[in-house]
Amino acid sequence: MQTAGRLLPAEWAMREVDFEVLLHLVERLSDQQRTALGRALASASGEPEAVRLLEQAFAAAPRCPHCTMTVLQRWGHASGLRRYRCTTCRKTFNALTGTSLARLRKRACWLRYGEALAAGMSLTKAAAHCGVHLTTSFRWRHRFLRAPAAAREALAGVVEADETFFRRSHKGSRRWRCGDAPPGRGPHRRGERAGKRGLSAEQVPALIARDRAGHTADAVLPDLGAEAIKAVLAPVVAGDAVLCSDGAKAYAAFAAGHGLHHEPVNLAAGIRVRDGAFHIQNVNAYHGRLKGWMGRFNGVATRYLPNYLGWRRTLERTPDPSASRTWLLAAARPIPTTNAN
Ligand SMILES: [Zn+2]
Repeated sequence: MQTAGRLLPAEWAMREVDFEVLLHLVERLSDQQRTALGRALASASGEPEAVRLLEQAFAAAPRCPHCTMTVLQRWGHASGLRRYRCTTCRKTFNALTGTSLARLRKRACWLRYGEALAAGMSLTKAAAHCGVHLTTSFRWRHRFLRAPAAAREALAGVVEADETFFRRSHKGSRRWRCGDAPPGRGPHRRGERAGKRGLSAEQVPALIARDRAGHTADAVLPDLGAEAIKAVLAPVVAGDAVLCSDGAKAYAAFAAGHGLHHEPVNLAAGIRVRDGAFHIQNVNAYHGRLKGWMGRFNGVATRYLPNYLGWRRTLERTPDPSASRTWLLAAARPIPTTNAN
């Protein structure tokens, strides 16, 4: 199904004077009419562009989402997308199969939603920006962010790791505001036994690890114990890396277990930098930017926290974070462990 045919060639376009009238009429639209007009405009022009970008990206690195083989045959079109068949497993699929965009509707608005993510818009603003319902805006936010949240970067050289804390919030609750909890007070005491470091039931720890080239890993932790730290760091930290952390024993345990050189910084004793190079100031600055940016969301449900971590990481790490296509393409990356949809 082609929607591009709806676009008129220049010589058939509306007369300039009529267009002026149309623009004046726009000012008189109700909210509902404005939304409907936005949808009509988007479906007249947006769909081919989003689909074109996604198909192009897929064709540049074709891969069967079922068996990962790369020898594919073209297999016609279905649902407005080019279809392929894998010569190995003989299954058919399209550029979105196995991604979190598969079966998501209103493709015409996807690039606009990419703009909303690039700008860090609230759900309400993003809904108005794209001409979609608020519930769609919510669903799309988490669909678009699923793949960025799951993406992992390898860390090498000097790797700084430290936790930051968010208020626990249950789904649908708007009572909590994230970022307003004073993290250093009480619950986050240091030097206690690994796994027994104090953590109030109201706080959720997130581990951020960053190397000096800016590669970043993040995860929400179930607790502050050595196992939880290891589960996040082991898959991403290079075997010859130098790990910088505070004095918590969980980090020492991880470093010892993986043969890493460990440089603990004794913050409690007022020591912030060792030997001029070993500190956790880059990762703590990242915490600050993350918290500052998240303040706008007025309370993030804990179950979605990983998506916000991935959102912030993508903003900091992609070469072109203000481009809507960045977010569209990031959203359409395959998610290895989850069978999306
Ligand atoms: Zn296959």
